[in-house]
Amino acid sequence: MVYFTDLATFDYHSGPFSCDEWECPLLSVGWLEKEFAFDKGPSPTWLIDRISSIRISTKAQFLQWAFRGLHSCTLCEKHTMLTDSHINLFVPGVDCVYVTPGRIDHYILEHAYKPPQVFVEAIAKCIDPKSDEYLKALTRVNANQVPPLFRDLSSKNTN
Ligand SMILES: [Zn+2]
Repeated sequence: MVYFTDLATFDYHSGPFSCDEWECPLLSVGWLEKEFAFDKGPSPTWLIDRISSIRISTKAQFLQWAFRGLHSCTLCEKHTMLTDSHINLFVPGVDCVYVTPGRIDHYILEHAYKPPQVFVEAIAKCIDPKSDEYLKALTRVNANQVPPLFRDLSSKNTN
């Protein structure tokens, strides 16, 4: 995987992972690697379940944007291979979109990682990625432009 500081601009590959494709800031959360320090502390208990359900819906709806291959956690002594770590979540914020590894829950549970409070609030408000409301929420924050997550899908139909 790659390392990004929390709340730094995310820019990796193309499509929805490229900050240039968004009209609003695309911010990193939870791109941890062993060599870099990160915030630690307790998180609300509902956070893990919310992240898991968003990941399950994202996997069902946006599998075309999954990374190739699974990621093993470099914070674990045995470098545990994480199930569904090829899935990444796009979470609408107030005036930005957060992109986070789908297994950020592992970092929270196993390594006491404390994600930024603005991200926790965005997760609390995040609508099911399988719903039309999710598209609407991402479109609203993306200056009313179709988010790149959806854009390439529609262009496939016309090509
Ligand atoms: Zn780990």
